Amino acid sequence: MTDWRLHGQERYLRQAELCYRTYEIYRKGWDHDHCEFCQGKFAIQGGDFTEGYATADHYRWICKNCYMDFKDIFDWKIIPSDDRPASPVIRAQ
Ligand SMILES: [Zn+2]
Repeated sequence: MTDWRLHGQERYLRQAELCYRTYEIYRKGWDHDHCEFCQGKFAIQGGDFTEGYATADHYRWICKNCYMDFKDIFDWKIIPSDDRPASPVIRAQ
């Protein structure tokens, strides 16, 4: 299968544990992230998405569409959202 959105993510996202959650800023000073596949913008305000599937460390984000399109290939495991941040939570006020 070839898809313009695929460029080697299986090296680090295959069988990853993902959690569906509201977008949170990963690190102070950042204000958005991009979907690992379609590059859609995750942001608290003004982006394409305000929630999606994140890795446990909140570092990588995947939008719902891409999740649906690639979940069978990547064999992702969904873990329940515990609402406890993996990194110190920084909320934009
Ligand atoms: Zn996407």
